Amino acid sequence: MNKVLVTGGAGFLGSHLCDRLIARGDDVLCVDNFYTGNKRNVAHLIGNPSFDIMRHDVCWPLYVEVERIFNLACPASPIHYQNDPVQTTKTSVHGAINMLGLAKRVKARILQASTSEVYGDPAVHPQTEDYWGNVNPIGIRSCYDEGKRCAETLFFDYHRQHGLEVKVMRIFNTYGPRMHPEDGRVVSNFIVQALRGQDLTIYGDGMQTRSFCYVDDLVDGMIRLMDSPADFTGPVNIGNPGEFTMIELAETVIRLTGTSAKLVFQPLPQDDPKQRCPDNSLAKEKLNWQPKVSLEDGLKETIAYFRSTLTND
Ligand code: NAD
Ligand code: UDP
Ligand code: UDP
Repeated sequence: MNKVLVTGGAGFLGSHLCDRLIARGDDVLCVDNFYTGNKRNVAHLIGNPSFDIMRHDVCWPLYVEVERIFNLACPASPIHYQNDPVQTTKTSVHGAINMLGLAKRVKARILQASTSEVYGDPAVHPQTEDYWGNVNPIGIRSCYDEGKRCAETLFFDYHRQHGLEVKVMRIFNTYGPRMHPEDGRVVSNFIVQALRGQDLTIYGDGMQTRSFCYVDDLVDGMIRLMDSPADFTGPVNIGNPGEFTMIELAETVIRLTGTSAKLVFQPLPQDDPKQRCPDNSLAKEKLNWQPKVSLEDGLKETIAYFRSTLTND
């Protein structure tokens, strides 16, 4: 049993991580400021003696005693991280400094939820971890991309300078139950629109690609990385290499929901990456990890979740 801190634990990925850690016998402290997360995501864990929850902003110091830290606190959807971009950079950078300072004091192993966004609009395809990326430092996505890049820098400097055990995970687009209906990311948008009988909003010509990983696969990779030998720091890509255009995704959602909704085209947001697909060779070699859930199966689970929550709203 480990005493584990999960920052951003009331969010989409964090709440699934809390579930899995508790199921395997860990003691979990969930820290969240509920900016994009919600207590409802972990309501079923409240009252469990292995689970604690604390409202706290990681931009401020945190003094707790833990053995492992999963640092997930940060809004992940473009509409949310662009809503208060200064706070987004502060969360990534001050949050990383505080959580690394905490890890240093208590000698905890610490994992950073980094992102495929560190590759920006990639000129190398699929993306391998040794690619340094193509990121606009002053655009509307920069608060997120550069904040996460700076957090990676801090992780590796604390590792080199202070000997911290760090793990850096580059997460590619992940979807599944507990995404917020107004989250703004493409999978939740399409499913919610389809279930409400509204036309599906395609930004740009819909030929841009993304690779979508189901949340259970992602959390499995995250735990494997945390448990991996101390000398493996990453960064390591965790994502599903199946690559789809937004048109293909929309057509699949339309077929699986049986909606009569159509596609409607809207302007492409600034700096929207044209393509994204992980090279997973390192995760396979070092973590023996590969995604198992197909896009179609994952979408069915996610559609079932939204069907039940939207009716209950
Ligand atoms: P989410 O928005 O559902 O969860 C983020 C959580 O962090 C929320 O509960 C939010 O309230 C909390 N939070 C935000 N700022 C905070 C602060 N200053 N202090 C404390 N808590 C704060 O998003 P998610 O999809 O669960 O993403 C979790 C992590 O994974 C993020 O760091 C994100 O950057 C990373 N990530 C996610 C994806 C994805 O596709 N889901 C892809 C790449 C990286
Ligand atoms: N910190 C924290 N919890 C701890 C220890 C440190 O939140 O248990 C924060 C504190 O705000 C500190 C930061 O982490 O400024 C970085 O810590 P470090 O020891 O690296 O540097 P310091 O600023 O203390 O010299
Ligand atoms: N997108 C879209 N319609 C939507 C929401 C997003 O076509 O309703 C597009 C968006 O422009 C991007 C892709 O889907 O090209 C993935 O967007 P998301 O916000 O989910 O993730 P990210 O851009 O961070 O990969």
